[in-house]
Amino acid sequence: MKRPLKVTIIGAGTGGLCLAHGLQSDGVAVEVFERDHSPADRQQGFRLSINATGGAALRSCLPQALFDKLAASSADPSEGLTFLDHRLNRLLAIDFPHNERSDADAERPISRAALRRILLEGLDGIVRFGRKFTGFEDGADGSVVAHFADGTTASGDVLIGADGAGSKLRSQLLPHARRVETGIMAVSGKVDLNDANRALVPPPVLRGPTPILGPRGCFMFASAVQYRDGERPARNDTFHDEREEYVMWGFSAHRAKFGSADPDRLGGEKLKAAVLGLMQDWHPSAMRLVQAADASAVSAFAVKTSVPIPPWRTRNVTLLGDALHNMTPFRGIGANTALRDAAALRNALVIVDRGERDLVPALADYERDMIDYGFAAVRASLADMERFHADRPLSRALTKAAFRAADWIPPLKAALMGGR
Ligand SMILES: Cc1cc2nc3c(=O)[nH]c(=O)nc-3n(C[C@H](O)[C@H](O)[C@H](O)COP(=O)(O)OP(=O)(O)OC[C@H]3O[C@@H](n4cnc5c(N)ncnc54)[C@H](O)[C@@H]3O)c2cc1C
Repeated sequence: MKRPLKVTIIGAGTGGLCLAHGLQSDGVAVEVFERDHSPADRQQGFRLSINATGGAALRSCLPQALFDKLAASSADPSEGLTFLDHRLNRLLAIDFPHNERSDADAERPISRAALRRILLEGLDGIVRFGRKFTGFEDGADGSVVAHFADGTTASGDVLIGADGAGSKLRSQLLPHARRVETGIMAVSGKVDLNDANRALVPPPVLRGPTPILGPRGCFMFASAVQYRDGERPARNDTFHDEREEYVMWGFSAHRAKFGSADPDRLGGEKLKAAVLGLMQDWHPSAMRLVQAADASAVSAFAVKTSVPIPPWRTRNVTLLGDALHNMTPFRGIGANTALRDAAALRNALVIVDRGERDLVPALADYERDMIDYGFAAVRASLADMERFHADRPLSRALTKAAFRAADWIPPLKAALMGGR
């Protein structure tokens, strides 16, 4: 049995960095290769919500002081999840039991930029930027060699693809694994949470994630990011952007609903107009979120999903997170599942490093579980997407009736929320 291990991770995203911390804290040799040239290279999107699953994974992999920093950098924990109809009538409300920042299980919105900055702390010399992975090949003595676009290579005992939804590593390891368009287009934007705007935001949005079921297959999601008990950094502070208070929203519908114009190609103002055109009979406060959005931060994307595949023959190359089980954003669990993978893979690799298990059986067990819960999350996210965008009035009426019933019947509520 060969030990100690040398682990190569492709991708310094949510899952890859969490895994790197876990391995480093157990003394396992690890290197991370990232295509971006610097941490601030790319717009990271607005925010992510870390739930109890993701929080537990981060707690287990990060040094305590770093986890505490992450908790302190999160926005106020969400107090609850509220489903509304497009006139803003309540369909279903769920209170979250943990709403203190110090609660381990709190649902924590955190800015993507802050998450990445914190996850990079303590990994100097481990994360290498500007290294775009292009492919791998078997090396000598059972090693695996990663190749990069700049002509360099890196060799290790095990290679992990944590390179996100468009994973180059997956396309070589599992060429049959597909990621497909769902037909849904999403437009997202954000509204500065200044005093004037705050007064106009629907109150459930200030409490936490708020899915809004509209008519004719249209759907909206809104959630506030606020730091009521923290100090607000000055405008010129480095972390000002990470402590911005705002409401983020996403509006989605089948592509055809947006008419002949291709939303991918529209600028912010035209996207806002296209969304408002689909919201004519919505409550004015919901429309106001779109009207007040900063056009320069409004963008559209085609919602994609991976297609589940059965387990494959395990070798010394594996995957985690979106690189395998990319899912639609309608459950808000993609990053949380990537973090769960990172914690599970860290446990598997540490045992191998200690010489207590061989690599391939340890990875096979990791893959079996990860394929199971990862694709279950993909299916659940897709089912939510289909339910939220059902076009037929009868389907929508049934969904709303089920939510209203669940609002009254706790076991039904728990069943509807399963896996979230
Ligand atoms: C609108 C939206 C909202 C979302 N909200 C939530 C939420 O609230 N909660 C939640 O849990 N999830 C959410 N998600 C999903 C979440 O963003 C992803 O599931 C998560 O980021 C996946 O993490 P990852 O580590 O697998 O990949 P990523 O975080 O995408 O990291 C992949 C990394 O690999 C790098 N990389 C890619 N290719 C290469 C290459 N060839 N060579 C080297 N490096 C490479 C990338 O630059 C990147 O840094 C949301 C997604 C969307 C689209």
